Amino acid sequence: MAASNKRDYYEVLGVDRSATPEQLKKAYRKLAVQYHPDKNPGDKEAEEKFKELGEAYEALNDPQKRAAYDQYGHAAFDPRLRAGAGGARGGAGGGFHDPADIFREVFGGGGGGGSIFEQFFGGGGGGDEEEAHGENLRYDLEITLEEAVNGTEKELTFTKPVRCEPCGGGGAEKGSKTITCQTCGGRGQVTRNAGIIMMRQTCPRCSGAGKVIERPCRACSGEGRVNQKSSVRIRIPAGVDTGVRLRSSGNGAAGVRGAPNGDLHVMIHVQEHDIFGRNGRDLTCEVPIRFVQAALGGEIDVPTLTGKARIAIPSGTQSGSTFRLKSRGVKDLQGGGQGDLLVTVRVEIPQRLNAAQRAKLEEFAALCDENVNPQSKGFFEKARNFFK
Ligand SMILES: [Zn+2]
Ligand SMILES: [Zn+2]
Repeated sequence: MAASNKRDYYEVLGVDRSATPEQLKKAYRKLAVQYHPDKNPGDKEAEEKFKELGEAYEALNDPQKRAAYDQYGHAAFDPRLRAGAGGARGGAGGGFHDPADIFREVFGGGGGGGSIFEQFFGGGGGGDEEEAHGENLRYDLEITLEEAVNGTEKELTFTKPVRCEPCGGGGAEKGSKTITCQTCGGRGQVTRNAGIIMMRQTCPRCSGAGKVIERPCRACSGEGRVNQKSSVRIRIPAGVDTGVRLRSSGNGAAGVRGAPNGDLHVMIHVQEHDIFGRNGRDLTCEVPIRFVQAALGGEIDVPTLTGKARIAIPSGTQSGSTFRLKSRGVKDLQGGGQGDLLVTVRVEIPQRLNAAQRAKLEEFAALCDENVNPQSKGFFEKARNFFK
């Protein structure tokens, strides 16, 4: 199971999922002041925290984005998780702008802060040369409880960008040369004036490469990849549960112009089962028993995922009593043994009695003194004052 290295936005802001816009703003204000680069000069970690905060606040402060985030998590905004895979879901789009911009919005007033932002975002360093690998794709896969418990293999079919055959992924038409990008003059970056600060951006034409293809491949328009229906076989390990994300390395989108592939993220959704529930490693099951059985005790058959099992119930078993069948639950995904099956019995009271049955029960009732039902006895002793 691969964990996202991006922290949950609510966690970043330290608020509840039900936080009001006011609470969000308050939480953001407090933390943004704490991690502001002005207060933490040269502190890389604070700088990262400040950026993270800005991103989280921007997402949650916009009702539409927040709704998308609540539903899809980070996938709602990550363009790499939105490329047209069959199972991939779109979200409210939109890249984030600078955390500094939000900071200004929240604290009001642009002036004064200029130098901080310049120092922080503008100068030095230059853009990070992130490798333009293909997008990670998300596929939502529904499986049965049996499949989740036993593990399985699935063939996933969806459309995704794959390497373009005619140009071999290079993106150039046969006989075409690579030339310097005129938009950025080969620097790979362009400068944009954003209010009081100058922003450096990756060149939109050459995506930072500084070079462009003279004549792009006609099959892929120079991208080096085309959308195509593809199949991926993946193994689902025993013990997965809803919310588990499996990563299939290299099975995401092909990279632009021969860059490495992204990954495929398979989000597991386990269907409801008619009979069994699940609580972590334990399976649960409710079994009705007759009231005479509960009173007399005996053996009952109960279902397990691997066939039926027989359990002994003692005389005087109460409705709601739970019996544990060792190791009949779900195998631990991390290899920590197997859970149990918890069988809860529900005592069923007869709903229709014929004359003979009624007569026997009345005869039985006449034989009972208060000691037959100690719970009732105890209750009425305590409640005695209320019957006066
Ligand atoms: Zn091509
Ligand atoms: Zn360029």
